[in-house]
Amino acid sequence: MNAVVGIVGGGQLARMTALAATRLGLKTAIFAPEPLAPAFEAAQVVFRAEYDDSTILQRFAKRCDVVTCEFENIPLETLRSIEQQTPLYPSSRAFSCAQNRVAEKSFFARCEIATSEWRAISSNQDLDLALDALGTSALLKSNRGGYDGKGQFLLKDARQAEQAWQSLVGKQAGRKEEQGRQKQEQVGQESAIAVLEKCLDLQSEFSIIAARSSNGEVAFFPATENFHADGILRESRIPAAIETKLLTRAQEWTRRILEALDIIGLLAVEFFVTRDGQLLANEMAPRPHNSGHWTIDAAMTSQFEQLLRAILGWQLGSTSACKQARMINLIGEAWRDYPKYLSMPDASLHLYAKRETRKGRKMGHVTFRSFT
Ligand code: ADP
Ligand code: MG
Repeated sequence: MNAVVGIVGGGQLARMTALAATRLGLKTAIFAPEPLAPAFEAAQVVFRAEYDDSTILQRFAKRCDVVTCEFENIPLETLRSIEQQTPLYPSSRAFSCAQNRVAEKSFFARCEIATSEWRAISSNQDLDLALDALGTSALLKSNRGGYDGKGQFLLKDARQAEQAWQSLVGKQAGRKEEQGRQKQEQVGQESAIAVLEKCLDLQSEFSIIAARSSNGEVAFFPATENFHADGILRESRIPAAIETKLLTRAQEWTRRILEALDIIGLLAVEFFVTRDGQLLANEMAPRPHNSGHWTIDAAMTSQFEQLLRAILGWQLGSTSACKQARMINLIGEAWRDYPKYLSMPDASLHLYAKRETRKGRKMGHVTFRSFT
């Protein structure tokens, strides 16, 4: 034992994975560029370097028995260079699909998984055509790099669509400059700057988190109902108040994705249920997911432990859960109210020790559970 699990990315997901690993007698090595990444203090080994620092990357990969990632927006080149030395689970292929909305939605279509109507946007002309086809009741989302509603614009009219587009074009230009001489695979669908997506009248949102191990075993956590405001997850609940028929279909789709991408590790898929009862896939993440944080306190196996089991080739754990659980995110300044949760008998408090409190930043979460 005493295997070293490498994690690329140093945020709260890496931190909670490292904590789960420590409990199991494993060591974790974190690779992240931030000087004070929240995961560093929970890990045994720290590699602080930029994602394109090939010397440190090689050292990191050599130190690890297996590597995983805590978020999908890691340059593919970084992932591929790790993969050449050490097993990376899920593979760079899964991440290449999940870090690009056009690739992801095209992949869903190939798997016969329904999504909202969308168009890839690479130019002003594409935008005009897409607005004609889908209407202005739509969202313009950056093709890459978006999370927590960042890089998204809920459109009102064509003029505002143009402004939103210009802002995304500006950001893309900035990012390219930043990447400097780094080789970029800007071919075909990957060159789209944004997607235009029809705005849906949502009844509810839920997510399915599943693990798949190297022998093909798949385990599903109970579906989680999710409540967002301003594009950020505020609250997750089990059991999800969703029709069983839709949950079964969502599980089938999740399994399809796991198998098609040969994912070893975790996969979270976000789903929409529209007011007229349609099930649509929104997006996926081949990693632990915010909507699965309740599993730490209210499931037999947490999503973080399950990830470790899957990538180490261990037997997957039971996903049995409490009768009810509810997780709220502590966003921005809200974390400073943490003492109030300490006196609540059903509350488990988690703080991520981020050095800087920013508006819209996830600083911690609280899980409330009930066994009856
Ligand atoms: P992110 O990568 O930031 O999580 P998402 O595409 O998941 O981006 O969007 C964040 C949230 O915005 C969703 O969970 C949902 O609440 C809302 N949203 C996104 N797309 C649509 C849509 N087409 N119609 C209605 N609401 C949407
Ligand atoms: Mg999302």
